[in-house]
Amino acid sequence: MTKPFKGISVPLSNNSVVKRRYSVTQDVVSFRRCARQYGAFNVHKYAPAQQTQTYFGTIIHQVLDRCHAHYHGIVDPSNKGLLPDNGLTLSEEEIRDYFNEVKGAQKTGEAVPSPPSDIIRYFIQVENGLNSKGILAIRSDTRVQAVKILQYFNALEGPTLYPRVKDTEHRLQADQTNHVLHGVVDLLVDISDENLDPANCEMWDYKGSSRVGLKPKDLETYEFQMRVYAYLYQRKHGVLPRKAVLYFLNELDGSTCPSKRPVNALVEVSIEPSEIQVAINEFTKTVNQIEQSRCTNKWEAPAPGDISEQDCKSCDLRWYCKTPNGGKGVKPIYP
Ligand code: SF4
Repeated sequence: MTKPFKGISVPLSNNSVVKRRYSVTQDVVSFRRCARQYGAFNVHKYAPAQQTQTYFGTIIHQVLDRCHAHYHGIVDPSNKGLLPDNGLTLSEEEIRDYFNEVKGAQKTGEAVPSPPSDIIRYFIQVENGLNSKGILAIRSDTRVQAVKILQYFNALEGPTLYPRVKDTEHRLQADQTNHVLHGVVDLLVDISDENLDPANCEMWDYKGSSRVGLKPKDLETYEFQMRVYAYLYQRKHGVLPRKAVLYFLNELDGSTCPSKRPVNALVEVSIEPSEIQVAINEFTKTVNQIEQSRCTNKWEAPAPGDISEQDCKSCDLRWYCKTPNGGKGVKPIYP
């Protein structure tokens, strides 16, 4: 009998290590906020019934992205140098009336009225995209609030901010030996009008929440996030950014547009090299904890008080979680 494979030696293949990619916000920040929620929705991929947080944060980010594109004439060159709506705002009633008119027209099959402003037009475009993915605003007030905040930001910050924006959705990543860490900076803002100079740029990150009432642990995580971005930025550009800025958009909320920036809206995060190192160590520790949780499939909820009640209020797991309501849990609606 012939032995066709006689004399052939096949070397063992090298065990290649597959490095997992970790997003600074969607993985590390989410896990640090609540490992249990992260395990259910990010790892096991259960579909959340409500996506209120996703809705609000995404709509704010994407509409502002369109506002920057509007000012820089990216979509329509005739808009170059112009603020959306020339910086004017509609009242809460006018926004609500428009949404009600659209609802009425959709019910009766009549033609839907045109959006009364650029911001509402961009809002509807982004919202349609989110709705097609099943991400909806649960309350109509949330939509009105989002449009109000977007208008106020556009009117208050647009004139001085938009001309200085050099890049939006600025992507950063670095190979961290065991994993790849990546993130997206909302804005790169140059202090001068000249061409992009990485050493002169500020990194801005929008938060669709208020600064007031934020848990100290959450603020610390956001500061770590900006320092990790600073590190990734340095890996990409060879220099640290000039500044790292967090902008809490819900601080603008109110019945009228603020005439000057509310004191709590903007937080400048210090980016000293020693602080950046602490943040990197802390985030690497978190990535190791995620890996550990993946191995054991144990995803613990934070202790009561370590997460805001607001976050728990919109979480599908609240009915059988002991953390919300100061550790008392939430009473089921049905017997
Ligand atoms: S209810 Fe709160 S603590 Fe419990 S899983 Fe949800 S977000 Fe986490």
